[in-house]
Amino acid sequence: MFKSLFAKLLIGYLTIFIITLAASTAAITFIYQAFVFSEKEHSLGNGAQQVNDYYVAWLNGEISREGFERSTDAIGRVMDSVIYAVEVDAEGLNKYYEDNTDKGVKDSYIIEDLINIMKNGQVFRKEEYSVAQDTYMVYHGLPLVVDGVVKGAILQYSPVEQIRSGLVQIYIQIWSVGAVMGIMGILVIYLYSTRTSRSLRELERAAAQIAAGNPVEDIASAGDDELSQLIRVFNEMKGKLEHIETMRRDFIAGISHELRTPLTSISGFVQGMKDGLVPKDEIPAVLTIIQQETRRLISLTGEILDLVKMENGGEELFLEKFRVFDALTFIIGSLNIKEKKPGLQVEMLCPEDLSIVADSDRFRQIMLNLLSNAIKYTDPPGKILVEVERQGKWVKFGVIDTGIGIDAEELPFIFERFYRTDKSRHSRTGGAGLGLNIAKAMVEQHRGQIWVESQVGEGTKAWFTMPIGEEGEA
Ligand code: ATP
Ligand code: MG
Repeated sequence: MFKSLFAKLLIGYLTIFIITLAASTAAITFIYQAFVFSEKEHSLGNGAQQVNDYYVAWLNGEISREGFERSTDAIGRVMDSVIYAVEVDAEGLNKYYEDNTDKGVKDSYIIEDLINIMKNGQVFRKEEYSVAQDTYMVYHGLPLVVDGVVKGAILQYSPVEQIRSGLVQIYIQIWSVGAVMGIMGILVIYLYSTRTSRSLRELERAAAQIAAGNPVEDIASAGDDELSQLIRVFNEMKGKLEHIETMRRDFIAGISHELRTPLTSISGFVQGMKDGLVPKDEIPAVLTIIQQETRRLISLTGEILDLVKMENGGEELFLEKFRVFDALTFIIGSLNIKEKKPGLQVEMLCPEDLSIVADSDRFRQIMLNLLSNAIKYTDPPGKILVEVERQGKWVKFGVIDTGIGIDAEELPFIFERFYRTDKSRHSRTGGAGLGLNIAKAMVEQHRGQIWVESQVGEGTKAWFTMPIGEEGEA
């Protein structure tokens, strides 16, 4: 029956709340009642003590019997009680006083109590049926002491009804406050349970939608409790999943597009040759194009493999300390720039004793990606400068060219996958737009930074940093 979380929360909280409230209200009632009776006992005790004093004064002739009776009557009225003062001697009941009700010692237990009180001291009972008064009474007895000797007892009866009706008034007030608190509490618990269960239901629904691959709106969250934090984290996670999903789609779309172009071109040329449409003397040129396109495909698949590796958190880095000068000399040499683009000047400014701690394969890949851009987008007689300098615990590398440059508006996007500027898209030399993205991921794997500054028509400066080798020397 109480299967839903809402019902469970509601019933659970309500049970705890109602039990606590009822128990505390009952405790207050009980404590208050005990307090009222102890006050009554206390005031009856004081009254009895006064009667005792007047009795002694009367015995000593300090006041008349009328004086004693009037005083005792007055005390009885103030206490709302009937007072008996009884002195007992060897012959039994001797002197006896009863206040103005004039009904005599009719209750049988009075004599018994008299003995008891004389022996054991004060007696107080909350409910005692009085035959004389024909009602339940609060009963109080105190030994009557004359000259330090117990001579008898002072007995007092006060109707319980009086105290009861006063108590009932107070009970009604206590329980009314309890009821108001109860209603307010129930309301708060209801609202809280609804809110909690609603948020959880929304979370569940959203999670199911995400699992089904459907788009989901952010879940609203106010406050700072664990549930609100969970919702915020959930929203963040959802955002990331959506981002990954978009990236995945774009990635596949990009790859398909990049593969399609060279394949279409190769297929077109091969078909042309098969159909005998290409004149014999042009066949070498066509084969060169096919070879170029094939190389493009190979480089593209290489880049895609790199990307997939990065995507999976990157393979573990094989960190080693090596001399930058040697590594750069080898990388630049392997590029064969003079043959590829005659007239392009390449220069390297690098301290010979500088080393870094890095994965040398990745470092080579980063340099190749930046250098290939510089070569691609710089026409002879341009210049490419590779500059290296130490910066504290880092080594900063720069690949600076005097090429076509990048438009300021396009600069923020060049690290995105498949992003190519307008200019490079129109040139046949263009790649897939993956090089910088891969370089960035690799630099960040080393906790370094990468950035590009550029001015259209003047050239481009691509910078990145790598952690320095200990002591900065090889
Ligand atoms: P890929 O590197 O995948 O073969 P790509 O070189 O086009 O292709 P990126 O290296 O990622 O891709 O560069 C992204 C874009 O940034 C390039 O297409 C080009 O428009 C621009 N760009 C990068 N470096 C330079 C540079 N040195 N000079 C001018 N434009 C550049
Ligand atoms: Mg590139």
